Amino acid sequence: MAVANFFDKIALGASQILKGYDRSEFEKILLSHRILIFFDDNAGTTLEGRATLDLLVRLIARLYPVIQIENVQSSCYVEELKRLALQINPKIEFADSERPTICVTVGKTTYSGDSSTFYIGSDNWITRFSLGQPVGSSSSNNPFGAGAAACIGAANVFRCVFQDQLQYGAVDQDFSLSLLDFSLSSNSNELFIQSLHLDEVVLVGLGAIGNGVVWALQKTPGITGDLVIIDDECVALSNLQRYVLTDQDSINISKATIIKNYLNESKLSVLPEVVKWSSYVSGRKNWQIETVLTCVDSAEDRIVIQGALPKTIFNAWTQRENLGVSRHLSFNQTPCLCCLYYPTQIKKSRSQEIADNLNISGYENVIREYLANNLPLDEKLIQLVSSANEISGIELRPFLGSSVNIFYSEVVCGGILMKLKGPANEEVRQGIDVPLAFESALAGLLLAAELFKNKLGYIPQDPSASIQINLLRPLTPYLNVPEVKMTSCICNDHIFQDIYAKKWGF
Ligand SMILES: [Zn+2]
Repeated sequence: MAVANFFDKIALGASQILKGYDRSEFEKILLSHRILIFFDDNAGTTLEGRATLDLLVRLIARLYPVIQIENVQSSCYVEELKRLALQINPKIEFADSERPTICVTVGKTTYSGDSSTFYIGSDNWITRFSLGQPVGSSSSNNPFGAGAAACIGAANVFRCVFQDQLQYGAVDQDFSLSLLDFSLSSNSNELFIQSLHLDEVVLVGLGAIGNGVVWALQKTPGITGDLVIIDDECVALSNLQRYVLTDQDSINISKATIIKNYLNESKLSVLPEVVKWSSYVSGRKNWQIETVLTCVDSAEDRIVIQGALPKTIFNAWTQRENLGVSRHLSFNQTPCLCCLYYPTQIKKSRSQEIADNLNISGYENVIREYLANNLPLDEKLIQLVSSANEISGIELRPFLGSSVNIFYSEVVCGGILMKLKGPANEEVRQGIDVPLAFESALAGLLLAAELFKNKLGYIPQDPSASIQINLLRPLTPYLNVPEVKMTSCICNDHIFQDIYAKKWGF
């Protein structure tokens, strides 16, 4: 029994949200739990039940080193789920004969053990959660209520395990949430996915949120259309911390290849573009881009995407206080994507951010030179970083020859530097956020849900409102947040407005 080989990244994420974080204590707590995923044939044989279980295992197996998977009625779906867990963390232990500490139940059967139990399930667009009784899984073709249930279940397990270290970490009370209007009381559910043509959809960013989007696309039978997937990076070990479609075989493979392979059996025509957005747009023959899904990680990238004036943009994010989704259906009338990311303060340059977070602030010019000339990491830079941080250079040497961007992303953002220095010696870092896997997955699911709802003709009550959810505390009844058009934004500039109107006719 052992934690996963991407534990440094998990530890970095935990250090950002848990009070009084201590790495060995954190590891001890994780190892002391046995998380049971308990289900029946209702869950094992319906599309929704299987979707919930699949995503739940993808989330739970990334974090907890000891789990149990049990179908109370038959052996249906058990071995498949165990294989999936082992592909994510080959050192995971299935403690099947021991008493679980926490149980997540999917299906219609009551769990009779005495551990804390969360019942999750779904019906089309409705996600259900209960502390006391089974909520069942329906047999629709819709994976959204089902996928959200898995994220809610994983979030409640996390809050239960770390309740003493989280400020608002109580578990949820019973609820039904409709992903149509995001109301906890309406039970709005009258929209059905049978077959659906998506036309052309451009998905920008195949990170953790993009993985959530694609999980939902793959789990929806009968969708057709052209899906352009854009990302120029490869999967790194630390990405396994929250990319739900990745496993040990994904490392060093391009993110676009992983996604294309995952959608192999889908009826979607998938066009991978292993480039940045700017190269994709300049290489494209026309700029008539109908629908863009943005899962990128910076405000700058979002502003550039909005600048190309696609007809419709759906956008998702994760940040410290919440995850969310925004819809941008009409550039000229409603808040555009830039309105939400309007710069309010001067941001550090990339080279300064890297230098600061490597604790070599005075050497920003050196980092700038490495970045500008694409120079590989060499002994000189390793020396500089290890002596500034008073650590041995041995653990940094495997990165010799890598780009400074990869070194930074694995050593600082991947948690290696924190492990070497210990969190007590860590300074506050800027520009690094490590969401939990269930946060990113839910953001991606909600993004895909907005695309589907739009293509099915669903009109939200307030289309310009964003949806915001904080999974580190119980769900609140108000998830729709009004957004406003910024007066000095490009969407109020008549030159941009005229181009948009000429392109799209309104
Ligand atoms: Zn705007």
